[in-house]
Amino acid sequence: MTTSIDREKKILEHLQKQGSASIQELVEVFNVSNMTIHRELNKLAEAGLIQKKHGGVALVTQSPTAGINQCSMCNKTISERTVFIVRAANGEQKRACCAHCGLMIHSQTQDAAQSLTADYLHGHIISATQAIYVLGSDLNICCVPSLLSFGSKQDAEKFQKGFSGTLANMEEAIHYLHGMMHAHP
Ligand SMILES: [Zn+2]
Ligand SMILES: [Zn+2]
Repeated sequence: MTTSIDREKKILEHLQKQGSASIQELVEVFNVSNMTIHRELNKLAEAGLIQKKHGGVALVTQSPTAGINQCSMCNKTISERTVFIVRAANGEQKRACCAHCGLMIHSQTQDAAQSLTADYLHGHIISATQAIYVLGSDLNICCVPSLLSFGSKQDAEKFQKGFSGTLANMEEAIHYLHGMMHAHP
């Protein structure tokens, strides 16, 4: 069974290739009802990832307002390359500058569900629960200790060869962050 989050991911991948798509096209590509597609698109639009247009959708390449483009945790400007989106079960969502802030928010959100993050290597939006994280690498592009997310273990390992750091799954990455905080009270 294709889950909703898989489909959202695939819709984003589809839009990343094409830039935009019509509703009809998405219905055919994903072989689901109009209603399902609308529901997924609404979620993605609310997340600020896509923009609905007449009869279709397009990928948002730039966030429409400056306010939305600030990290909920540290107020840094969010780069689409490292963005982390925490979504609560009630539909509320917070955007973070990178996985460092994102995982902090995620772990503090009681009902965090379906958080998303950008694959650092490719820029795709991926599921944060399935991402592989590289902890404490030499590439401090955002918050320190640096946490970067990757869609595949291979990519994470490739990155690790160049910039060192430790591979971790989401749970391990959250533990690591909390451990760092306790080490520096
Ligand atoms: Zn931040
Ligand atoms: Zn950051």
